[in-house]
Amino acid sequence: MLTPRPGIMDIAPYVGGEATAPGVARVVRLASNENPLGSGKAARAAYRSLSGDLHRYPDGAATALREAIAENENLDAARIVCGAGSDELISLLTAAYAGPGDEVLYSEHGFLMYPIAARSVGAMPVAAPETGLTADVDALLSKVSDRTRICFLANPNNPTGSYLSAAALERLREGLPEGVLLVVDAAYAEYATAEDYASGRDLVEARDDVVMTRTFSKIHGLAALRLGWAYCPAEVADVLHRIRGPFNVNAPALAAGAAAVRDSDHVRRSRDHNLRYRDWFSAQARRLGLEVFPSAGNFLLLRFPDPRRPASEALAALKARGILLRGMAAYGLPDCLRITIGTRQDMRASAAALEEFLT
Ligand SMILES: *Cc1c(COP(=O)(O)O)cnc(C)c1O
Repeated sequence: MLTPRPGIMDIAPYVGGEATAPGVARVVRLASNENPLGSGKAARAAYRSLSGDLHRYPDGAATALREAIAENENLDAARIVCGAGSDELISLLTAAYAGPGDEVLYSEHGFLMYPIAARSVGAMPVAAPETGLTADVDALLSKVSDRTRICFLANPNNPTGSYLSAAALERLREGLPEGVLLVVDAAYAEYATAEDYASGRDLVEARDDVVMTRTFSKIHGLAALRLGWAYCPAEVADVLHRIRGPFNVNAPALAAGAAAVRDSDHVRRSRDHNLRYRDWFSAQARRLGLEVFPSAGNFLLLRFPDPRRPASEALAALKARGILLRGMAAYGLPDCLRITIGTRQDMRASAAALEEFLT
C-alpha cells in the first residue's frame, strides 16, 4: 500500500466551474471568470502561426514573452518568471519557501489554491478572518507565528471582489516578519480601476520579500493555454528557475501571450465591457433583492438573503436553463453565488432567469 506524504489526503480537491448542462446545447458559461470577448485577434493569429512547429521545444527562458511584458509594464525582464498559469507559480513559490511544519497564511475567503498548495508540500494553511468579506490586515498579522513562511493575498480577491488599498498592502508587508514572503496574486489587476488600488508591483520594486503574480487567463482571454507570470526579487526569480520545469510554458502560449500583452485595444475593450455590464448587472440583482458585493474584478458575488429562495436552488434553476454560475460553499459562502460578467446577451439572460426564480 502506497502512502502519500502527510497533508496530501487532507486536500479537498479543487472543483472548477461547470462547463456543461445536461440537455442544453449552448450553455452560458459564467462560472470561471473567463473573458466573454474571448482572446484578441493578434493572440489567436500568433497561436495559429505555431501550428507548423509543434515538433520544436519552446524557448525555456521565455525571453520574448518576458521582454514583451517588461516593455508593456515597464518592469525588469530579468525578474519576470513565467509559468503554466499563475497556479503553477503559486505551487512553485509554496514548494520553494514552505514545507512540513511550516504555516502558509491567507485570508478566510481567499483563493482556494493557497491552502491546496500549502497542504501539497506538507505545510499547514492558516486562514485569518475577514471583515465585511475583505481581507483584514490586523487579523492576518495576528495569525502570524514563528512558523509562518508565506502570506498569500489575492488583490482584488476572488471570489469576494474586494481589494486592499496600497496603504493597507504596505501596512501588511510592514507588519509581517522578515523572512515571510508576501505573494500578491493580482490576477484581476487589469480590471481594478480604483485610485487607491495597488497590484503589489511597487512593493516588489522596493523590497526583497514580495512577489506579484499575474495571469493571461482573465483579461487576455487565454485560459486554455495556461499562462501566468510572477514579478520577483532577483533571488526569488533565481530560486523559481531552479525548481521549475525547463520547458514549463508551451510554445503557443509564449507566442499568444506576447501578442496579447501588446494588444492594448483588446485589454481596453475587455475592461470597458466589464465595467459597463458589472454596473448594469449589479443594479438588476439589487432590484431583485439580492445583496451584491462591490467588485473590482470581472465577476460579482451575490448573496441570497431569503432562505426560501436559497443560493443552491438558484444555481440549479439557472443551470436547468443552461446558465452556469459558481456555487460558493467551498469558499465558506453557502448563501452566495458568483457570476462572471459575460456578454450583454449572457447578462440579460441571467438577470431574466434570476427574476423568474426569485419572483
Ligand atoms: C483565476 C485566478 C488565477 C489564475 O489562475 P491561472 O492558473 O493563471 O489560470 C489566479 N488567482 C486567482 C485569485 C484567480 O481567481
